Amino acid sequence: MKIAIVSIGNELLSGDTTNTNATWIGKKLTDIGCTVIQQITIPDQAIPISNSLAQQCVLSPDFVIITGGLGPTDDDITRKTLFDFVGAESIFDEEYWAILSKRFKRFGMDIPDSNRNQALIPTNGDIIPNPVGSARGSKFDYNGTFLISLPGVPAEMEAMMKESIIPMILEMGVKPKSIKTIRTAGIPESALIEQIALATQKNHGCDIGYYPSLFGVDIRISNPKPDPVRNLFNEISDLLGVSVYGEGKKSFEEAVILLAMDKQKTISTAESCTGGLIGHRLTEISGSSNVFKGGLVVYSNEAKMKLLDIPINLLETKGAVSEETAKMMAENVKEKFKSDYGISVTGIAGPTGGTEEKPVGLVYIGLAQKKGVKVKEFHFGNDRKRNKLRTSQVALNWLRLSLLND
Ligand code: ATP
Repeated sequence: MKIAIVSIGNELLSGDTTNTNATWIGKKLTDIGCTVIQQITIPDQAIPISNSLAQQCVLSPDFVIITGGLGPTDDDITRKTLFDFVGAESIFDEEYWAILSKRFKRFGMDIPDSNRNQALIPTNGDIIPNPVGSARGSKFDYNGTFLISLPGVPAEMEAMMKESIIPMILEMGVKPKSIKTIRTAGIPESALIEQIALATQKNHGCDIGYYPSLFGVDIRISNPKPDPVRNLFNEISDLLGVSVYGEGKKSFEEAVILLAMDKQKTISTAESCTGGLIGHRLTEISGSSNVFKGGLVVYSNEAKMKLLDIPINLLETKGAVSEETAKMMAENVKEKFKSDYGISVTGIAGPTGGTEEKPVGLVYIGLAQKKGVKVKEFHFGNDRKRNKLRTSQVALNWLRLSLLND
């Protein structure tokens, strides 16, 4: 089943809004076995809209999914342009207008006249109900291609795709693909690709996609049949060993928490440059109170001294960002919370605050456990947000790997 996606909106072209609709639709439809053959973003203008529709139809897709421009304001011209394109007249839907008017009344308002265009229906097309908003969609059979128009608001578009469009596509006989995703952490994409070459360079018949992020690399394997996917999934997972933390949609935080629960180990954190991010990520998971005893955000020297008993003399001679301070922070937080593991992080997140000796991006991570405490030094670069995320990820992955060996 071939799909084209047309995203309409000036705000998408100017960069004010990220085009999440196209990504969402592309992913959902690919997952059920469709092929997205083209995706285009165009302004809220009649000529680009009709030109683009004509262009898409030349490619003979089964569906063109159009989002945006169905609102009540003057710049929302998709409906009229689409009706003109397929040669549809519009009829005013009194019944829907009454429903809309009532909805506004419930909020204590009179419905503005500008909303009248949302009650227009085409003479030769179908209406797609909107379960969460006022702008309904439409569907036209245009020379064998279905043109589907949906609102731009992501929650509305998603609800309509799930409720009407995806079931319609499935009913038309698209064969769902078999897809499995391997989630990895702590291994860069290039090293990962080398490590799994033995499996990937064989004639396995699957499509493989690599999705790297600050948190790790996801490997997505797909094939129309489940057996080749399962076999390749197993082979790659074996080659990657402990770098694999889960499959499918399992989150990294969930993997860490479940592992700690399984090993019956508790965790505490002493965070400086991450400002509580590690504790936040652990507590995203329901049930984390079973293993996460608590954390201290010891951002200032004063906090490090008062809350973690780091001696002033150590801070003055070695510095807050030092191997020695990280070591003592991990040991002391483990002791204070009586936990099995104590994690500490201290670093220079940037963009200011670096020196020649201690540049921005220098981070020390400490991990204290029964068999002792270790500190590792990292150099993460000069982007503050990325530094915080990477620090939290490296610390949590170190914890995960230690738990696996515990
Ligand atoms: P409604 O009538 O419900 O307002 P609409 O079809 O008129 O829907 P738009 O006016 O185009 O939708 O956009 C509504 C909101 O949705 C805006 O905040 C816009 O930035 C956002 N939006 C539109 N298109 C996209 C897209 N492709 N990805 C993400 N957000 C989008």
